[in-house]
Amino acid sequence: MITLIDGKAVAAEIRSAISREIQSLKIQPGLAAVLVGDNPASKIYVRSKRKACEEVGIYSESCSLSEKVSETDLLACIDRLNRDSKIHGILVQLPLPKQINTRRILDAVSSDKDIDGFHYLNMGKLVANEPGFRPCTPLGVIKLIQASQVPIAGAHAVVIGRSDIVGKPTALLLLHEHATVTLCHSKTKGLNEICRQADIVVAAIGKPLFVTQEMVKPGAVVIDVGINRLEDGRLVGDVDFEGVSKTAQAITPVPGGVGPMTIAMLLSNTLQSALNFVK
Ligand code: NDP
Repeated sequence: MITLIDGKAVAAEIRSAISREIQSLKIQPGLAAVLVGDNPASKIYVRSKRKACEEVGIYSESCSLSEKVSETDLLACIDRLNRDSKIHGILVQLPLPKQINTRRILDAVSSDKDIDGFHYLNMGKLVANEPGFRPCTPLGVIKLIQASQVPIAGAHAVVIGRSDIVGKPTALLLLHEHATVTLCHSKTKGLNEICRQADIVVAAIGKPLFVTQEMVKPGAVVIDVGINRLEDGRLVGDVDFEGVSKTAQAITPVPGGVGPMTIAMLLSNTLQSALNFVK
């Protein structure tokens, strides 16, 4: 019998625990979202992150800047937020427009408020397995595998996709949980055979229905990070849910899988940051 890993339910539990903890705190955690330009998807993401903050009692504000903003003005906005004691977490919604050097901006965010875990210092701490902020989506992936009750230690995990924000950090987190990790990408040879050896498959490719039933070993756990909009308007993941459900032991749906966990982990990192500040 296939288990549906319900990201919405796991995220809801995490959010209630965060909300309870915030009620018992003397300070209110605060998050600032920096939004540049009018990208409709970015606006929706920022709105839903701010709504989630309100629901658990995190103060939130957004700094919305024009598509044509100069790097100097964007850096000034980040500098102001770095020094604002109400703010414990700063997220810069990506992508940024072409005139902006994204790396320079991500590294301008104080590493103590870098709740997305994109600052080089936090990326280095992830590699070294030292305490620091971990990127939210990969953290959500780990929590979902743990929720499926499948042991990570000793498992062979295959991650498809090697981006700095999803694939690579997910592979490192799995490694730190003692999985044997294979990290695949567009140049990987024999991807189907590699995938078929996996106890855990994480798909972070950005290609609709890419992972098919033939690529998944019976009994594997499949985590679908992908979010793809089809021409008919349907939202689907990177995994052919219907086919893979026949083979896998457990699988995340899209929507309702990794997506809600990303936001829950953002809230969790913001709370952790506020706690670090009062320590
Ligand atoms: P990127 O486009 O940055 O990375 C995609 C990765 O997939 C690359 O490493 C690429 O390889 C690899 N890839 C592409 N084609 C193939 C192929 N044919 N075979 C094997 N590997 C391939 O995407 P992101 O990591 O940013 O995002 C991945 C997906 O996750 C997207 O659908 C995105 O929308 C979704 N997403 C979902 C989130 C959530 O909260 N649920 C959050 C963030 C992202 P190469 O490096 O060689 O080019």
